[in-house]
Amino acid sequence: MARVAFIGLGRMGHGMAGRYLDAGYSVAVWNRSRAKADDLIARGARWSTSPADAAIDADAVVTMVADDDASRAVWLGPDGAAATMRVGTIAIECSTVSRDHALRLSRELNARGVIYLDCPVTGLPDAAASGKLTLLVGADAADLERARPYLTPIGSTIRHFGPVGAGTVYKLINNLLGAMQIAGLAEGLAIAEQAGLDMNLVLEAIQGGVVASPQVLRHAPRMIARNFADASFTAALRHKDAAYTLQLAEQLLGERPVMAQAAVDAYARAKAAMPDEDEGRMIELVSRPKATS
Ligand code: NAP
Repeated sequence: MARVAFIGLGRMGHGMAGRYLDAGYSVAVWNRSRAKADDLIARGARWSTSPADAAIDADAVVTMVADDDASRAVWLGPDGAAATMRVGTIAIECSTVSRDHALRLSRELNARGVIYLDCPVTGLPDAAASGKLTLLVGADAADLERARPYLTPIGSTIRHFGPVGAGTVYKLINNLLGAMQIAGLAEGLAIAEQAGLDMNLVLEAIQGGVVASPQVLRHAPRMIARNFADASFTAALRHKDAAYTLQLAEQLLGERPVMAQAAVDAYARAKAAMPDEDEGRMIELVSRPKATS
């Protein structure tokens, strides 16, 4: 039976780890806070005392944590997975990290004989729990083929963008575009509200017009109704993604692009006010209290 170590059981990782159990893999799990593992343990996962413990005897180690710092800790920290991974083991980093971090991590793990793929994902937690994520892979083609049995349980689509780092580049521009659309939508809707427009009609026009991306279509009704009950992606995580993309843009384009900078600024404000809230709530920061007559 193939053995997977899964590290990071947040909104996304919890469902992804469950997919390996569904598929009949032997699964070892670790999360910084243990309670999130309870139901996976009840389903047959082995609780591990550290990422290093989880990685002992694993054929593949998959991580889904918040950011560069968390990724560094779980792979390369004192109790990190790299400490116990065998030569030829596959490392699959699904977290959204910076390209610099992905490249550094790849070098560190390759030096220990470990195969590395960057594999950030698109899709919400419900897609993670049902194995319907899109996987954005950066890897040698031969390494991707070796890793494929560990990718198919979690992803319904695999897009191979090129060598290590390429999957992360695409993920970062994808999330920058999302940040711009959501921040722009919040401002547009706030203007319409303040001008006294019928917001049902505004929504109907957006849904039937040409400016609406799937991201806009998802967030417009939630923002208008101020209904953020199904929180899936936080302001802090989107800010992290936009900031990593701005850093990458500066390296590649030689300047700070104004649109990326604006997205980072909008999300910095949202992160300061509501770090762990759904990102759609940023409309509350730009709208004004309704005038009373
Ligand atoms: P989340 O629910 O906030 O989970 C974050 C995970 O990272 C938790 O397991 C957390 O552990 C762990 N973590 C944070 N800091 C850590 C540290 N210093 N050391 C060890 N573990 C640490 O976030 P999420 O929504 O699942 O997102 C996870 C990753 O997927 C992020 O990179 C995000 O950008 C990306 N992503 C998210 C979505 C989405 O819709 N949510 C979609 C695509 C990609 P604790 O449980 O102990 O806090």
